[in-house]
Amino acid sequence: MKVMKFGGTSVGKPQRMREVAALITSTEEPKIVVLSALSGTTNALVEISTLLSTNDRHGAQDKINALEQHYQQFVTELLQDATVLEKAKKILAEHFEFLSIILKISFSEALNKDILAQGELLSTKLFCLHLEEQQINHRLLPALDFMSLDNQDEPQVGTIKVKLAQILQRHKEVGVFVTQGYITRNAKGEVDNLKRGGSDYSASLIAAAINASVCEIWTDIDGMHNNDPRVVKTTRPIEQLSFEEAAELAYFGAKILHPASIWPAQFYNVPVKLLNTMDPSAKGTLISEEAGSNGVKAVAAKDNITAIKIKSSRMLLAYGFLRKVFEVFEKYRTSIDMITTSEVAVSVTIDSDIYIQQITKELEAFGTVEIDTNQTIVSIVGNEITETKDVMFRLFEAINAIPVRMVSYGGSRHNISLLIPRSYKEQTLQVLNEGLFGLE
Ligand code: ADP
Ligand code: ASP
Ligand code: MG
Repeated sequence: MKVMKFGGTSVGKPQRMREVAALITSTEEPKIVVLSALSGTTNALVEISTLLSTNDRHGAQDKINALEQHYQQFVTELLQDATVLEKAKKILAEHFEFLSIILKISFSEALNKDILAQGELLSTKLFCLHLEEQQINHRLLPALDFMSLDNQDEPQVGTIKVKLAQILQRHKEVGVFVTQGYITRNAKGEVDNLKRGGSDYSASLIAAAINASVCEIWTDIDGMHNNDPRVVKTTRPIEQLSFEEAAELAYFGAKILHPASIWPAQFYNVPVKLLNTMDPSAKGTLISEEAGSNGVKAVAAKDNITAIKIKSSRMLLAYGFLRKVFEVFEKYRTSIDMITTSEVAVSVTIDSDIYIQQITKELEAFGTVEIDTNQTIVSIVGNEITETKDVMFRLFEAINAIPVRMVSYGGSRHNISLLIPRSYKEQTLQVLNEGLFGLE
C-alpha cells in the first residue's frame, strides 16, 4: 500500500482535481490519498479567525462570503451530475453554516482550530464526490478518527498505527482511501492541526503507520531544488537525497516539505518521493537511506530567527554555565537551532519568540543579554559536506560581502549553517548559487 499526498495547488482548481483523480487511478496498488485544503483556503481561514479574535465580525463575514462564493463556483465547475452537485451544495451549506455560527460565539483557541480544519474537511469531501461521479470505488477516512497528538503535542505514531490497521482491516475491498492532511485530535480530544504545511507531516506519519511502500508528496514543482526557487531564478531539481539531508533542508526552510515531515518516514524506513502534479513524468526527488552522492546538494533559508547573546565574565573557566542557560530555554519549551561560544559569551538562535521576554529576564541573572531579531539561518546541506574538499573555501569566498553573525560547522556532517540579517537573504542565496553550484 502507498501514500499519495497532494498539496493545495494540486487540488486548487477543478481541472487539477480531475488530474489528481487520474493520477491516483493510474496505478493498481492500494493507496491512502492525503489531501490539503484548496490553495488559499487555509490562509483565508487564518484571516477569518484573526478578524474574529479582534472582534471584527463584519470583516470576518465578508471573508466568509467571499470564500463561499469561491467554493460555489468550484463545485459547479467540478461536478456535472445533478445529484452529485446537489450533495456538494449540501456539504458547502453545512460547512458555511458552521462558519456563520462562529460569528455569534466567543472566540477561543479551540474554536480557532475548528475553523482552520474546515479547508481539509471540504477538499476531501468534494474530491470524494468527484470520485463518486467518476464511479471510482473509494472510501473517505476521517483523519480525526485516527490521527492524534500526545500532551506534548507530538504525534502518537503507535496509536495511529493501531487505529489505522483496524480501519483498513474493516475495508479490505477498498483500493482508494481519501483522508485529510494537517488535521488531528490533540490530547484533550479536540480538533487540532500539525501547523502550517502539515499535510506533508500527516502523509509521512500515515506512511510510517501503515509501513507504506512509498510516501509520494505531489506538489507544484519537480522535486527538491538546490536552492529556494522563490528567491533564486536558476535552480535545478535534485534526483536523490538521504533522509538526513532532506530532514535538514525541511527543518532549515525548504518550504516544499513541512519541517518535521521526514522523521516518521526515516524512522520506519519508508522512501519519500517528491513529484510534480503539473508534470507527472518528471523524475522528482527520491529520499531514502541512500544519499546517492556526497558534497553540497542544496541551500535553504529559515527566516524569523532571533539571536540571543549572553555575555558574562563569570563564564570564564566556569563549568555549569551552559547548563543554566539551557535550562531557561527548556523551561519555556523553546528549542535552540544554532549555538556558538567564546570565553565570555554564548550566542544561540531560536525560531519562536513567544517567551522571549521571560527568557531574557531569566538570562539577565547570568550576565548582559543582547537580542537581535529578524535574522535568517542559511543552511548548506549535503552528505559528508564537512569532509568534502574545498567547500569551506568556496563558501567563504562566496559570502565575502555578507555580514555573517554566526557560523555552525561540524554539529552534523551534513550541514553548515550561517546566521545573517534577514535583509541579506536574497543576496546570500544568490551568491551561494553561483559560488557553490556554478549557477548564475
Ligand atoms: P504544497 O501546497 O503542494 O504543499 P508548497 O507550496 O508547500 O506546496 O511547497 C512547494 C513550494 O515550495 C514550491 O512551489 C517552491 O516555491 C517552494 N520551495 C522552497 N524551497 C524549495 C526547494 N528547495 N525546492 C523546491 N521547492 C521549494
Ligand atoms: N492546508 C494547510 C496549510 O495551508 C496544510 C497544508 O497545506 O499542508 O498550511
Ligand atoms: Mg506544503
